[in-house]
Amino acid sequence: MNICVTLPDWVDAVARPGTVCATDEEKMAIAVALARENMSRGGGPFGAVVFHRPSGRLVSGGVNLVLQSGLSSFHAEITTLSAAQTRLGRYDLSADGGHELVTSSEPCAMCLGAVLWSGVKRVVCGACCDAARAIGFDEGPVFPESWAYLRRAGIEVVEGVLCEEAEAVLKRYKEQGGVVYNA
Ligand SMILES: [Zn+2]
Repeated sequence: MNICVTLPDWVDAVARPGTVCATDEEKMAIAVALARENMSRGGGPFGAVVFHRPSGRLVSGGVNLVLQSGLSSFHAEITTLSAAQTRLGRYDLSADGGHELVTSSEPCAMCLGAVLWSGVKRVVCGACCDAARAIGFDEGPVFPESWAYLRRAGIEVVEGVLCEEAEAVLKRYKEQGGVVYNA
């Protein structure tokens, strides 16, 4: 049996591998554009991007694929980290000067764990998890201690980058009656 998840072709068009971004805002704008595009195509309103830290080079984007795949674990952070690891041919993203994950919404409990195992050394978040909860998504057991654990593991966390734009996508999803699949 194969468990197969295909990242849609349009993801590379919105988040072009090799694109160089200098600021967190530039990087987040791409993650939010992925979230918006995925929503417009019937997916969940979440997007993320992995960048190579020293160069600011985009490795891979990704989007939430729960609705498209029928698989509950394929949140944007999971597909994005998996896409970057596949593209680079290794499971450890701490190599080669390190990588960072830029995500349109703060990670849920599962994705916080995935961040830790991926080896990324920096996480940049857009919408706060209260914004996701406000439209009905359950973030799971995320506590202040969860974030402290990541920081102690040497992962820098940046919150609230372009949060208004990121939260606008979530609000739009609710307004158009989008499916809340883990409530
Ligand atoms: Zn998640």
